[in-house]
Amino acid sequence: MKPNTFACLMYHFVQENGGQYSVTRSQLHEQLSYLQQQGFVVEDFEQLEQRIRACDPLPGRYALMTIDDGESSCSLIADALSRYGFRATFFVIRDFARKANGYLSEQEIVELRRAGFSIGTHGTSHRGLSRMPLATARQELKESREWLEQLLGEQVRYMSAPHGYVNRNVIASIFQAGYGLAGTSTEAVNVLDGLSLPAQIARVAVRRNFTLETLEKIVSGHKPFYSYRRIRSAAFAIPKRLFA
Ligand SMILES: [Zn+2]
Repeated sequence: MKPNTFACLMYHFVQENGGQYSVTRSQLHEQLSYLQQQGFVVEDFEQLEQRIRACDPLPGRYALMTIDDGESSCSLIADALSRYGFRATFFVIRDFARKANGYLSEQEIVELRRAGFSIGTHGTSHRGLSRMPLATARQELKESREWLEQLLGEQVRYMSAPHGYVNRNVIASIFQAGYGLAGTSTEAVNVLDGLSLPAQIARVAVRRNFTLETLEKIVSGHKPFYSYRRIRSAAFAIPKRLFA
């Protein structure tokens, strides 16, 4: 990894027989243990924002950790992260948290914050922000933030785009809504020197079929891995555009 560059990991949930965006409990432990053994400093959006403000250089081995959706197994993920001394930002969805059926309840979100993790919004409804009228997207950004600020009793500075759906107008709206860091699903290495607030953070979703070797490529900025992912996502974008 070049100095002052870093990968941001995106997890969703832990399940023994889940889909491609889930990992098993043992995969999670294997991956966290790998990061620890390799000497990675694993931080959250809050710590990164402080580094950007202070113009602090990054440790040699550095990764950001994020968890999207606020599914129930987030408590288990939080416990595991604490055990390894890692922080993370959890992105929660207002309407899912209110129903709390299979998702963290509002109270559990407050407890997560008290445990030292940072919390960001992930929409009110989890619909893709670039797939709705811009006015509706702006409303989602505003309402999810107001909800979470009221719940936590503090300013909310972070969000992640549901399903990674963003465009130029949505990004501008995210920053206008007062968010300082926005997590996307663009699979790329982030360069700290190019970052000023507000900023987008490229993230790689950790899939179930990723091996420890894949994780190593992600966090070490392995160029062929990222090129392959870029080509792959461009290929997938064609049918998305045709049939959306
Ligand atoms: Zn999501």
